[in-house]
Amino acid sequence: MADVLAEPLGKVHTKIVATVGPASRDPAVLKALIEAGVDVFRLNFSHGTHEEHAETLQAIRAVADDCGRLIAVLQDLGGPKVRLGPIPGDQVECPRGALFRLVAERTSDDPHELTSTYRELARDLRPGATVLFADGVVAMRVEHVDERGAELRVTLAGRLRSRQGINVPDVPLSLQALTDKDKADLEWTAQHKVEYVGLSFVQRPGDLVELREELDRRGCRARIVAKIEKPQAVENLEEILAQTDAVMVARGDLGVEMDVAKVPAIQKRIISACHRARIPVITATQMLNSMETSNRPTRAEASDVFNAVLDGTDAVMLSGETAIGQYPVEAVATMSRIAAEAERLLLSGDVPSAVRSNKAGQAPFGGRGGWIQPITESVVEAASLVSRRLGAALMIVVTHSGRTALALSKQRSGTPTLALSDNAEIARAMALYWSVTPLHFPAATDSERALNFALDWACERNLVARGDRVVLVSGTMPNSPIHNGMLVREVDGAGAG
Ligand code: ATP
Ligand code: MG
Ligand code: MG
Repeated sequence: MADVLAEPLGKVHTKIVATVGPASRDPAVLKALIEAGVDVFRLNFSHGTHEEHAETLQAIRAVADDCGRLIAVLQDLGGPKVRLGPIPGDQVECPRGALFRLVAERTSDDPHELTSTYRELARDLRPGATVLFADGVVAMRVEHVDERGAELRVTLAGRLRSRQGINVPDVPLSLQALTDKDKADLEWTAQHKVEYVGLSFVQRPGDLVELREELDRRGCRARIVAKIEKPQAVENLEEILAQTDAVMVARGDLGVEMDVAKVPAIQKRIISACHRARIPVITATQMLNSMETSNRPTRAEASDVFNAVLDGTDAVMLSGETAIGQYPVEAVATMSRIAAEAERLLLSGDVPSAVRSNKAGQAPFGGRGGWIQPITESVVEAASLVSRRLGAALMIVVTHSGRTALALSKQRSGTPTLALSDNAEIARAMALYWSVTPLHFPAATDSERALNFALDWACERNLVARGDRVVLVSGTMPNSPIHNGMLVREVDGAGAG
């Protein structure tokens, strides 16, 4: 396994989401990825089979247990994305000027004949329209359309692989939010527990309501990640945030569906809105793209990760870098180091005001079903202030639903936080929250015992030492007289003190 320097547990606040694929399914690689800093694994249901994903999920759970870590899993539903069909030989080179034919049904083994998951696509195209592949990495112009299909000429050279995405920004396609394939994939979800389900190409809040109903019908309690990658979603942002548990800035499709020059501002706007809605936000796609084939990122990529952290993102994501790349572990370790550097600047307070205003300071707006509680908000704000004043080494939050941990995370106090829940699934879901290291403690309803457990855990890992101050926040617990509370303790010896 690659020899990479990883930051110690709890030292990097920003969370890392890594897509699992052929380059990373192996348990030894999964273990190295966790050790390098992965908090959430993403299974992309646009690729792979149900059996493969089940096997990967099982391997993730086993390896996480082995590492003593709580890791969340995000099942990403493909959604109504038009994709290439299989390509003979699985890939094809597309030099500039080359001719391809898009057809409804394959007639030969020639890889220059392309098929798509939307049979009518060739018929909907008009000469002069641009067809983009793989998030805009390859582009072709429509030359001619007839009953046999559409003739396309390469205008931006590159390599195409089976099942890569297709965008036709000039041509509106009428697509439903949850496809039949997504519904079949949700049958898998009903059999296999995941913490998050991602919905692609969200356009309206109703799309999320529909997914929630499908999940409820199958008894799935997974949280929803709305992927913002359509101009319509950007327009309906606040309504969408009110219906989702988390958000992904899916810049791949966003960058081809809209003017690429607008994407950085949109990213900042989405992140800021997610802070006000107190929901986690993931910045995704092509963050360290060149690391698919190189063990070092470009300067532009390093800046991209760095700036996403300054924008206030809760998590950064790797796609092809870890799914099919040659340096998956190095990509994670690199991302973690860049994020740690950005956090030093972010927390020094020496950053432009636009970034500071992304902190949870301003008035939140009402999210899903009473998610934002004024008592919780006030207590976490006070706890965050106290921890900064005292230079606390650690915050410990005892939470049943995870809400208090999320509210605290959004305060960006910069104090590493241990979050204990009595529910294992909720504890794993908290792996996505900025600065939060989740722990599962079945007796978490007893705040005193939970505090001692967390202090022992932190002492054993040298996260706190004698004389350190620790701030405890307790959230509302079922059957407990304590509602929201705060407590400060000085560690007075080895162990719980
Ligand atoms: P999305 O639009 O959902 O992000 P994508 O096609 O861009 O889909 P990514 O998850 O971003 O896919 O991953 C990048 C590449 O990694 C894909 O183009 C695909 O070739 C490959 N890949 C990802 N997961 C798998 C998998 N489970 N099996 C095979 N290839 C995979
Ligand atoms: Mg996408
Ligand atoms: Mg992608």
